[in-house]
Amino acid sequence: MLKVAARCDLACDYCYVYESVDQSWRHRPHFIAPSTVAAAAERIAEHAERHRLARVRVILHGGEPLLAGPARLRDIVERLRAALGDRLELGLQTNGVLLTEDLCDLFVEQGVRVGVSLDGDAAAHDRHRRRADGRGSHAEVRRALEMLRRPEYRAAYAGLLCTVDLANDPVAVYDALVREQPPAVDFLLPHANWDRPPSRPGGGATPYAQWLLAVHRRWVETGRPVGIRLLDSLRTTLGGGMSGTEAVGLSPAALVVIESDGSFEQVDALKTAFDGAPATGRSVFADTVDDVAGHPLIAVRQIGLAGLCATCRSCPVVRHCGGGHFAHRYGDGHFDNPSAYCADLQALIGGLLPRPPGLDPALLDDLGTGYGTPAAVVRLALVHSSFVRAYLAALGPRAERDPLAAPAWSLLRAVDREHPAAVRAVLAHPFVRTWAADASGSGRGLAQLAGLAAAAALRAGVTAELTVPVHKGLVVLPSLGVVAAEPGAAVARLHIDHGAVAGDPVWQRPHEVTAAGRTLVLDDVDPYRDCFGVPVTGRLTAAEARSWAGRLDDALGWAAERIPQYLPGLEAALRVVVPLRPDPGGGLRSATARSAFGAVAVAPAPDAPSLATLLVHEVQHVKLGAVMDACDLFDRADPRRVAVPWRKDRRPIEGALHGCYAFAAVADVWRHRSGPAAREQFERYRGWVGRTVEQLLTGGGLTAGGVRFVERLRATLAGW
Ligand code: SF4
Ligand code: SF4
Repeated sequence: MLKVAARCDLACDYCYVYESVDQSWRHRPHFIAPSTVAAAAERIAEHAERHRLARVRVILHGGEPLLAGPARLRDIVERLRAALGDRLELGLQTNGVLLTEDLCDLFVEQGVRVGVSLDGDAAAHDRHRRRADGRGSHAEVRRALEMLRRPEYRAAYAGLLCTVDLANDPVAVYDALVREQPPAVDFLLPHANWDRPPSRPGGGATPYAQWLLAVHRRWVETGRPVGIRLLDSLRTTLGGGMSGTEAVGLSPAALVVIESDGSFEQVDALKTAFDGAPATGRSVFADTVDDVAGHPLIAVRQIGLAGLCATCRSCPVVRHCGGGHFAHRYGDGHFDNPSAYCADLQALIGGLLPRPPGLDPALLDDLGTGYGTPAAVVRLALVHSSFVRAYLAALGPRAERDPLAAPAWSLLRAVDREHPAAVRAVLAHPFVRTWAADASGSGRGLAQLAGLAAAAALRAGVTAELTVPVHKGLVVLPSLGVVAAEPGAAVARLHIDHGAVAGDPVWQRPHEVTAAGRTLVLDDVDPYRDCFGVPVTGRLTAAEARSWAGRLDDALGWAAERIPQYLPGLEAALRVVVPLRPDPGGGLRSATARSAFGAVAVAPAPDAPSLATLLVHEVQHVKLGAVMDACDLFDRADPRRVAVPWRKDRRPIEGALHGCYAFAAVADVWRHRSGPAAREQFERYRGWVGRTVEQLLTGGGLTAGGVRFVERLRATLAGW
């Protein structure tokens, strides 16, 4: 950022250059001197050369850069071009008041892209952006924007920068900005820190988040006609990518300011922290850009997570928020704090995260009984599929930039338009969400989108060709099975001809078995089935698969006869069984994974009732996991633990809830078996659940929904 002018023709009351504690502008030359420009250009070129930078962006800034006038600006631009050649990208940020046709001619000729500050309609804009005599600047800014929209100047129009003001209506502001047909928009939170906290006039906890979420809703409603840098950056980080702004995310700081006297400074929003805060003590006449990058407050913004305070490092949304703008972290003499906008950033990111459709209170009551009607359990399956789609939508922007994933993303969307049932069937496969959640969170494995697209194309019966990744020697086609790849290959080229893989593919398909009149998938091939944290079997022999089919038929037949109240759950939430290796100690072994709705992993059990009990127990975990996806049953930030009778250590609230829900079903199964031993087991499990339910209800960690849910479970126990 090159400060070409240190004065301004406006006197905005929120200006961080003139109205902040740092008043260094008073001692700077009004305009940058040619010799300073020459030294700056040399420094930038030297840095670009040393680090082989293909692009360097220089933003001409102020004060108001247009005060420098056409001749001085031409000289500056030409000097920069001469030093940096084609790698130079030039921008200019202006209040727009002094824009003329001569300047626009210069900008188009020299490839300078102009950003203009506009805070909304006349009332919103002129609330702050006024001259020293109090006259507003909105009319002149609109005139400048009209000029930039003309076909001959359109190439110089970079976009609009708007400072958020809670006094302005967010929708009216958004509409006013969009009316100017900008190529891009960015919103800036007013600069504030812990010593000078953000103004919250209505007393709300997160008014800035609510304001920006209202803009977001309007943006989505209107079909996102323009990019909004802050929201796009958050969307990108939600898809695992890097932020494009210093305001959020963990991208390394990439900006240095050169003042009109040649001093190197840090980002100028730091002027709001304390007098001299942006200073580095370096200048273009004596120091290199690398010298400046070694400044501790710049270096700390280059090391991602490690540069943040302990609170941010342990924050669940840190990868998206990144501690917010560096300047907003200042307080008590240091920057080792979360952002002064922390609550707003959390709420904003929470509002943009993939959202499930929610459960209405009647369904929550229904599932709280411990059983769940078919309608309620089917609703849980919808929660799961909406999560998968939300993850995919969040991965979309990254996929579009990835050479392997981009054609797959486009194919998947095309199949979804023409053959939605085929895509639905693929996305309903339990391990798709396991992959999608990991790809969103870790950024790894994006290429497997091609496996999804190929499976969807195969189910849809279309013809397509795409490159798919190879995982442990296999091409994974979710819901269909795996195809062996060439030994050692990292990717494979798949030709899909009218719904069949062309050539002579070696397929391994999961087994389909009939159990108590239903078809279940016995999955011994999908590599993502290792998500349960217990050892799965390898490929079953035909005899082993037949034996499993017999066991499942007996177990589900027993359940249908003795505990039919659990059938809706078993129908909707048990579609895939993953065989586990037997427990070497001879115990029972079963598992579920929160991300794999519809799948239960289980080892052989001694008899049908035991296997039925394991399946019902695990399906309770599957159901409750989906309830928790849709509703907050407890405060996730509550660190309290609950004493539970089935373990020596105290459990987090979530673990205690899961135990209650699953053991209640186990108690119920014993209730439907006969004999004194069954009676004893029933009493034991019902006692465990009863005691834990009381602890949960008196412990204070549950939300209102959680209390309602646990009270329903208590009523079920009382009814036994
Ligand atoms: S136009 Fe920009 S530099 Fe000038 S007073 Fe307003 S905010 Fe400050
Ligand atoms: S939301 Fe708050 S705690 Fe979390 S990373 Fe952002 S500033 Fe830090």
